[in-house]
Amino acid sequence: MRLRRITELSAEGVSLEALLNSMRRLLRQGSMEKSIAVAGSRVVEGHDDYWALRRLGCSLAPVSEGAREEGPVPLDALGFYDNVKAPELRVYRDVVELLTADRPTPLVMIKGDWGKGVRVWAKLEWYNPLSLSIKDRTAFSVLSEALAGGQGAKAVYEVSSSNTGVALAALSAAMGLRARIYVPTTAEGFGPAMLKILGAEVVTRGSSTVEALPSAMKEAEVDGAIMPNQFTNIANPLVHVAATAKEIEAQANFLGLKLRGVAASMGTGGHAAGISFYFKNRRPDVRVIGVQPAEGSHIPGIRRQDLSKWWPFPERPDVIVDVTEEEAMETAISVARSNGLLFGVSGGAALAGLLKISGVEEGDYIVVVPDHGIKYLERYLAELERSVSSP
Ligand code: PLP
Repeated sequence: MRLRRITELSAEGVSLEALLNSMRRLLRQGSMEKSIAVAGSRVVEGHDDYWALRRLGCSLAPVSEGAREEGPVPLDALGFYDNVKAPELRVYRDVVELLTADRPTPLVMIKGDWGKGVRVWAKLEWYNPLSLSIKDRTAFSVLSEALAGGQGAKAVYEVSSSNTGVALAALSAAMGLRARIYVPTTAEGFGPAMLKILGAEVVTRGSSTVEALPSAMKEAEVDGAIMPNQFTNIANPLVHVAATAKEIEAQANFLGLKLRGVAASMGTGGHAAGISFYFKNRRPDVRVIGVQPAEGSHIPGIRRQDLSKWWPFPERPDVIVDVTEEEAMETAISVARSNGLLFGVSGGAALAGLLKISGVEEGDYIVVVPDHGIKYLERYLAELERSVSSP
């Protein structure tokens, strides 16, 4: 048995079920039981394990010529954490490398009165370089997947309220593709403005992303454009398994945290689903807290979830908490005034949701903060006025 770079090998595709089962096994065991059998650089047996290693972000695969050999080989020896470690001096040859290799995003402890022995840490996703949000990860993942499938496509169409669209428009600019983004009438000013500056075509359609989706898909088909569709594309949650969740675990391990829970707000549900998949299999003692807007509340980037339309795997948050727009903004403003960091509204919601759950035990909790509050200044100013006039 020897180790080979995973990208030097080729393998046949496998079903989603086989892939997810193999990923679960690897996450639970933390090792490969057997090598992958190869003939030269072609995988002949263990296709599911090959794809699972790739999807988990491993850089190496244990291989043996002709037949599989008994292991075990620990994931650590297969470069499991390599994809979440930046090169020492953070120097990159292009924007795609910056986006994919400048990992992990920072984790910072947030001061506050959270209860005896409870510590809260924020994972700052505005450190992603394109949309200054967590959606850079999703956009790169779904676009790469769509490009691999769409022979020679020159244009990308997508429906997005702002951040995914901006990340896709930026990637399109970097890759020489034409981007058309369908934005709902409710989109924040930041989204449409950034899209125009990046040279994307902006089509305002419908009052929600869901409403615009069917007609946008039809138009993409007619025009021969690729449509990654972040709402159903499995590459969306899977990038959060391979990177976002793994970074959280690696950072928690590095700090020696007593990790109790991770809180995530939900739009497509992509990062909450990826984090759930990772932790339910690798660290089932860690609770995942999903946060959605309360009935009638509008929080940019997130929406109420219909769990019957969850991602095609059962791993999901242990608890789903409703948060109002006011609670999200009050929490964000309070953190800004005590810590000097202004979370975006969905990040405020994620923290507000965590603080609402029962059974918070002594230990560490991580809140995913999808973007920065500078995109929502008008909302925050309106909230300050509202709270002054109705204390
Ligand atoms: N917060 C913001 C600001 C977003 O833009 C989004 C998604 O667009 C989310 C949260 C939700 O992320 P996800 O789609 O992974 O559920």
